[in-house]
Amino acid sequence: MRITRIEVHEAELAYAGGVYRLSGGREYRAFDATILSLHCDDGTVGWGESTPFGSTYVAAHAGGVRAALDLLAPAVIGLDPRSHDRIQDAMNTVLTGHAAAKTAIDVACWDAHGKAAGLAVCDLLGGRIAGPVPVISSIGSDTPDAMRASVARHRKAGFRGHSVKIGAGEAEGGPALDAERIGACLADRQPGEWYLADANGGMTPESVLRMMAHLPENTDIVIEAPCASWRETLSLRSRCRLPILLDELIQDDADLIHAIATDACDGVGLKISKQGGLTASQRQRVIASAAGMVMSVQDTTGSEISFAAILHMAQSTPRHLLRCALDPRSMVSTRIAEFDAPVINGGATAPDQPGLGITPNPNAIGAPVAIYEGA
Ligand SMILES: [Mg+2]
Repeated sequence: MRITRIEVHEAELAYAGGVYRLSGGREYRAFDATILSLHCDDGTVGWGESTPFGSTYVAAHAGGVRAALDLLAPAVIGLDPRSHDRIQDAMNTVLTGHAAAKTAIDVACWDAHGKAAGLAVCDLLGGRIAGPVPVISSIGSDTPDAMRASVARHRKAGFRGHSVKIGAGEAEGGPALDAERIGACLADRQPGEWYLADANGGMTPESVLRMMAHLPENTDIVIEAPCASWRETLSLRSRCRLPILLDELIQDDADLIHAIATDACDGVGLKISKQGGLTASQRQRVIASAAGMVMSVQDTTGSEISFAAILHMAQSTPRHLLRCALDPRSMVSTRIAEFDAPVINGGATAPDQPGLGITPNPNAIGAPVAIYEGA
């Protein structure tokens, strides 16, 4: 089985909620998606996607993904898509870094592998663990009352995990407002619910410690990505009574090993395109498991294709370490593919079909913007 052709498509994914706000005044209205089809000599077609969360989340942007594919795609033509590590080697031979771009090819290879083997991707990733995967809500920064209402809406829909966005500027209300937001979100807490307060690297140790001073002693919440740098994170860690989960700071194997060696956190957000695809995410899942870290399986954002990769990874992640998965479909209003994995009572189950189980809609992805073929 050999890769013979790769086609690259562009699609704009509109943000479903109007404007998505993150710490530091970052705003997102739409996401530029790169969708890729990988064609093999036996007729198998695999699909992959890479949709960076704008250009100010991590060091990745959509134009960079497509420019990088210009180097990466020719390097994997002629290779066996089932040899995931060798595909990584070939990509690393022509380009250092650029995890987001490598993800589109890597995920398409897993889809093709599954289709050729007649197995769902979660079965290739170590095997399906029965039962739905808990999906987490995303509670955007707003007034405390509005955030409490958003948690209530998600609770009603069956969600048990809630990610509360924090990181208010001083002029806006600062650490006191963030503590108020957390208090409001936890006010109606039900047994079995799990809460993250995600600062997306937008706070300093000083602001997190001040926020914590406003929270009751017994507040049960995990602080996610409090600070932008390792120095700040480690300084906070030594003085923070709450568990810490790192996201943006852990982008590759070395970051994860550094986090373990310095005991910087209790959990990690594995985002498929941030880590470099399913191959890298699977490897990092093993490392995180060995360290006893909990995991939140996500992507930066994306369509049904991105969610399919997330869901197959989460479906095969040991349940005592899997805190939640993110459904990026809830963030975008554009539909790119059919994917039969509805969120029911706050959980979703990876379908049994071979590969990712997605069927792209040709009208939504349009004509290819680039085609790569063997000589
Ligand atoms: Mg996060």
